Amino acid sequence: MTRAYNFCAGPAALPEAVLQKAQAEMLDYQGKGLSVMEMSHRSDEVVAIAEKAERDLRDLLSIPDQYKVLFLQGGASAQFAMVPMNLSDGTQSADYVNTGQWSSKAIKEAKKYCNVHVVASSEEDNFSSVPDFERWQLSSNAAYLHYCPNETIGGVEFDFIPEVNVPLVADFSSSILSEPLDVSRFGLIYAGAQKNIGPAGICVVIVREDLLGNAIPATPTVFDYKTHADNGSMYNTPPTYAWYLSGLVFEWMKQQGGVEAMGKLNRAKSEKLYQYIDGSGFYANPVAVNNRSRMNVPFTLADASLDKAFLKEAEARRLLNLKGHRSVGGMRASIYNAVPMEAVDALIDFMKDFAQRRG
Ligand code: PMP
Repeated sequence: MTRAYNFCAGPAALPEAVLQKAQAEMLDYQGKGLSVMEMSHRSDEVVAIAEKAERDLRDLLSIPDQYKVLFLQGGASAQFAMVPMNLSDGTQSADYVNTGQWSSKAIKEAKKYCNVHVVASSEEDNFSSVPDFERWQLSSNAAYLHYCPNETIGGVEFDFIPEVNVPLVADFSSSILSEPLDVSRFGLIYAGAQKNIGPAGICVVIVREDLLGNAIPATPTVFDYKTHADNGSMYNTPPTYAWYLSGLVFEWMKQQGGVEAMGKLNRAKSEKLYQYIDGSGFYANPVAVNNRSRMNVPFTLADASLDKAFLKEAEARRLLNLKGHRSVGGMRASIYNAVPMEAVDALIDFMKDFAQRRG
């Protein structure tokens, strides 16, 4: 069996070593005679797995002590609602930046719970850049400012962390752990797991403690961050297997040299791909150069009628899931932490060959 190169935006490639370890431990976890999937979340084994995963994530991102780390269900989409429910107090307004489809969804959901003020939007340029920070119209009394540092669909990434005097809230679903991050700049960070963390089914929330305990009264118990903070994310049954696999990914990342090493590799991978696209005369990427995502690289072919043939031939070469999001078309190569440089090299070789034959 040879494994294919997987460029899926999510659920995305997982490190092969992680899958192998999970396979080896699948039927009998550490001599217990049970799979992790079959164990109580209150068992010593699962509690130890959960605690180690949290410790390793704290180490990887140097998360300061005054932050809680929560492992929740509902994906990043649940956070679109939980953030305003927990942080807006229902009367205050909240500032949002709109840089693409995921920001737009967060905005739409937040409007159910508070007054949303969109401080800046790149909708006019078809979400192909990050609005210039100098021109953001920040409110004076916002409960928080929300933005999406990496728009997975548009392939647009912030090249700065906004400097604001309200809690900064960020949807890091598609770029968490891809490079070092100063967590202390944020009030709250959330990220669905299925890109750089682990399999789908779990969402990590990193929240400053002083922001807990102010949920609007109608907030369901399971949507109140404090419930999970007070119960080690085990108020109800957590997604234990996804948590275990995420822990294996954190271990793997530490063995690779942590976020510093990942950051260097991710930059090298994406630079190589963009450089090839720009010089190819056949492929194009529409995003402003400073805002090009290191994780999600969308590109178009000079002739869109060749898209189908491109995908078919790519698949025959075991280069999978290159189709762009259904809303934008074209192609997209997602090159998260678990996608090695060899995958990028193989993709570029194929792109060159295709352009030569069909261009
Ligand atoms: N935000 C971003 C940036 C995403 O990429 C995604 C999923 N691709 C989501 C939110 C939604 O995540 P989920 O499907 O886990 O709810």
